[in-house]
Amino acid sequence: MAEVQNEEEVSFREDVDEAEIRDTDIVFDCPHCGKNLVIDYRGAGLQINCSECGESVLVPIPDGMELHDLDLDPGEILKQLFATRRNYQKAELEIRSLQARLVQLQETLGVMQEVIAEGLSAS
Ligand SMILES: [Zn+2]
Repeated sequence: MAEVQNEEEVSFREDVDEAEIRDTDIVFDCPHCGKNLVIDYRGAGLQINCSECGESVLVPIPDGMELHDLDLDPGEILKQLFATRRNYQKAELEIRSLQARLVQLQETLGVMQEVIAEGLSAS
């Protein structure tokens, strides 16, 4: 029987292997029949009929996911992507300067340990 889908054509995936589940998929049990349901993240918050029992189920919204994330226009998402990349580059530069500082401190530590060892053997 062909179900009427919403415009975006988001529907439960049938007989999904554990290995086929993507990070972005929403996985939950049908509250009516208990069937393990798998759906693309775009189905979050939608009311869709269960592929097993046909009852209408509300797809849960994953933790940390905001519904408006889905409504952003591509330009906005691109802007966020660029901002994320910039932050990433900044973080990488910070890591590099911290690594250089770490090397300096390790050298200083090495010198101090030598001085202490010499002091101990001299006494
Ligand atoms: Zn069901």
